Amino acid sequence: QPELAGDFGTLMAWADGARRLKVRTNAETPHDCRTARDFGAEGVGLCRTEHMFFDAGRITAVRQMILADSEQGRRAALDKLLPEQRADFTEIFEVMTSLPVTIRLLDPPLHEFLPHEEAEFAEVAEAASVAVDALKRRAAELHEVNPMLGHRGCRLGVTYPEIYEMQARAIFEAACDVAARTGNAPIPEVMVPLVATRRELDLMKGIIDDTAKAVFVEKGREIAYLVGTMIELPRAALKAGEIAEVGQFFSFGTNDLTQTTLGVSRDDAGRFLTSYVDKGIFARDPFVSIDTEGVGELIRIAVERGRATRPDIKLGICGEHGGDPASIAFCEGAGLDYVSASPYRVPIARLAAAQAALKSRG
Ligand code: PEP
Ligand code: MG
Repeated sequence: QPELAGDFGTLMAWADGARRLKVRTNAETPHDCRTARDFGAEGVGLCRTEHMFFDAGRITAVRQMILADSEQGRRAALDKLLPEQRADFTEIFEVMTSLPVTIRLLDPPLHEFLPHEEAEFAEVAEAASVAVDALKRRAAELHEVNPMLGHRGCRLGVTYPEIYEMQARAIFEAACDVAARTGNAPIPEVMVPLVATRRELDLMKGIIDDTAKAVFVEKGREIAYLVGTMIELPRAALKAGEIAEVGQFFSFGTNDLTQTTLGVSRDDAGRFLTSYVDKGIFARDPFVSIDTEGVGELIRIAVERGRATRPDIKLGICGEHGGDPASIAFCEGAGLDYVSASPYRVPIARLAAAQAALKSRG
């Protein structure tokens, strides 16, 4: 680890000796995972899978999948996507060796995947052997006025279960292959996004567990894994007691939880929040530092209700707040197990976690 040289290394070693919170990273490429490990990350707390689907070599198959009007059509496209998705996870597992890797199933704003240009429609039409006009009609059907509150997260997995099935297969096949090749069994934690109800998570866990079982039989090997959920909607926080009957871990998605609790768009918030901070309505920008009263109250409720159901539930945070020192101090007080920060924020998070632990001990 290059950073462990000199005074910086000494400081970090002190911090690590003092902190209670584990520090993971938000990373979705092998390169980012390597950077974060060099900075001392103890696992991946959030591997988003959306960008993998935008890869130039696969976007046509992704569009084919989204625009298909039958399960058979979607499966044809998903068969093309599986090998590349498996390779994505294989490389990440190899870099992270036997550290936990939380992989979040697809959470797309659907409209971002839709074709816009004529040439894009033509490519999909050719790949799927359907007429351009039919694809355009389907794209119009899928159009949403407010995609961030629309058909995203697990709602996609509920309507099109075969998408999450493909991703789960890619995760478990990759994990078995890496274990067989390197002798280090990866620790996948499969995370379902935008859950609001127990039933949603139950349905998605069913798909994940069935897929794991099938892959383990095919590969002649079992891998230990967890299935959990993001807590990023107020309803999920309030119903955490029920959701923990199914989920083995919670990760607080404070970007969406802030948006949905305050009713403020995370994409446009910057326009007026500065004056809100100037006028003392918020102490800090709530998209940077956790709004400890509103969002924080929901987190405390979810922690208490989740632990009441499942005392050993693993609790983390993976919103941008996971790299913010004031929010990390809040997470220490709320009793979370880990924070997850972008790779370059990992050292800051290690220091902030140590400061928070020292302060709480008095
Ligand atoms: C979140 O909502 O806090 C989160 C981590 O997910 P995303 O930013 O990808 O919506
Ligand atoms: Mg989110």
